Amino acid sequence: MNAYETTNHYLEQAFNLLKLSDRYRTLLLTPTRELRVEVVIELDDGSIGHYIGYRVQHDDSRGPFKGGLRYHPEVDIDEVRSLASLMTWKTAVIDVPFGGAKGGIQVDPSALSRRELERLTRRFVDQIACVIGPTVDIPAPDMNTNARVMSWFFDQYSRRFGFSPAVVTGKPPELHGSLGRDAATGRGCLLALREVLGAEGKSLAGTRVAIQGFGNVGSWLSRLLHESGAKVVAVSDALGGVFNGDGLAIPALLSHAQQRGSVVEFPSASPLSNAELLQIDCDVLAPAALGHVLHVGNAREVRAKYVLEAANGPTSAEADQIFNERGIVCIPDIWANAGGVTVSYFEWVQNLQNLKWSEADVNASLERHMVAAHRAIKKTMDEHGCSMRAAAFALGVRRVKEATDLRGLG
Ligand code: NAD
Repeated sequence: MNAYETTNHYLEQAFNLLKLSDRYRTLLLTPTRELRVEVVIELDDGSIGHYIGYRVQHDDSRGPFKGGLRYHPEVDIDEVRSLASLMTWKTAVIDVPFGGAKGGIQVDPSALSRRELERLTRRFVDQIACVIGPTVDIPAPDMNTNARVMSWFFDQYSRRFGFSPAVVTGKPPELHGSLGRDAATGRGCLLALREVLGAEGKSLAGTRVAIQGFGNVGSWLSRLLHESGAKVVAVSDALGGVFNGDGLAIPALLSHAQQRGSVVEFPSASPLSNAELLQIDCDVLAPAALGHVLHVGNAREVRAKYVLEAANGPTSAEADQIFNERGIVCIPDIWANAGGVTVSYFEWVQNLQNLKWSEADVNASLERHMVAAHRAIKKTMDEHGCSMRAAAFALGVRRVKEATDLRGLG
C-alpha cells in the first residue's frame, strides 16, 4: 500500500466502526481539488530549474482548507493526497475550525541556494494564488520549509492582494507569527505522550525515548522531553544517529547539531544507523521524519512499548496490525502531532484580530486542546473497543460527517 492507500485503509476501518453508508464513503474520501503546477525558475548560473508542485485540498466542511507545504525530492501526488486527507481528520480530532489540505514541491532544497529557494517559493505562491487565501486555504511549514519560507510566502501573496498575514501560518514572531508556534508540534507530542502514560499511572520522568529526525519536530520534542525528566537515549537525522543508554545531553546535542548541521559525531555517544534506531531497547519510539518508516519488514523488531507518531504517516497498515497484535500502543499522528496546526489556528486568529497572545496563553490553550482530544479519543475507544488510531479516525470522521450533513450538498 502506498501512503494514500494506507490513509484510506485507516478511514475504511473508521467507516466500518461508525457503520457509514457508501454515500459517506464517497463524500469523505474524495478530495475537493488537486492542483499540479510546473514551477520554472532561473537558477543562479543562468540555467533553468523545473520542479513539480502540488496543492491538494481535501475537505473544507468544518472551515478553510489548512495544511503544510513540503519541499522534498520524494514528494508525489499520492503522498500529498494522503497528507491532505490526514489534515482533514487531524483538524477535526483537535477541534479547530479548519479542513484539510497539503502542498509540496518535488525538489531537493539542499541543492538550491537561498536566492533560488526564495524564487521557487515566490513562483509557487503565484501559481497557487488562485486557490488559497485567508478564508480559503492557509498553508504552513512542513518538511524542509520553515518560518523563513513562510515569510516569503506571506510577502508574495501580500504584494498581489494587499497585507494578508492570515494567508499562511508558521511565520516568525517578528513578522506576525505566533509565539510558541516553532515548538508547538513537539510540545503537542510531549502532551500526547504525557496523557497516554498518565492514563496508565506512569509519568514522563525516567521514560526512555528514541527519536528519528532532529528537525523542527524532533529537536523540540527532544528538548521538552529532556526538560520533563525523560531520557532521550537515541536520536538521528538523514545522515545517521547517536545513542547513549544513560540519556543524551540534549542541550549540548542541540548546539552540536546547530554548528555541524547534523547529530552525527556527537561526543559521549555511540553512532547508530537509522535502521538500528527503530529497533533499540526503549520505552517510546518517536518517528519524527519521513512517512512509512515502520513497515512489515521491521515492525516485529520494534522493542518500544509505545510508538509516538510525531511524523505524518510513519506506520504502514501492515506494521499497524503487527503493533496491535504485539500490544504496542501507537499514539496516532492525527492526534500526536496536531500541536502544530493547533497553534497555527491561534496564529490565524491573532492575525485576523491584529492581536498578540503571550507564549503562556498559547501553551495553555494548546494543552487544553490536546487534553480534550485525548478525552474524546478515550471515550471513542471505550465505545468501540478499538485501538487509539481507529478511535482517532472514527472521532475525526464523525465530526466531519456531522458538518457535511449540516451544510448539505446544495
Ligand atoms: P524538518 O525538515 O524540520 O526535519 C526533518 C528531519 O528529518 C531532519 O532532521 C532530517 O535530517 C530528518 N530526515 C530526513 N530524511 C531522513 C531519513 N531518511 N532518515 C532519518 N531522518 C531523516 O521537518 P519537520 O517539520 O520536523 O517535520 C518532520 C515530520 O513531522 C514530517 O513527517 C512532518 O510532516 C511532520 N509534522 C511537522 C509539523 C510541523 O509543524 N513542522 C507538524 C505536523 C507534522
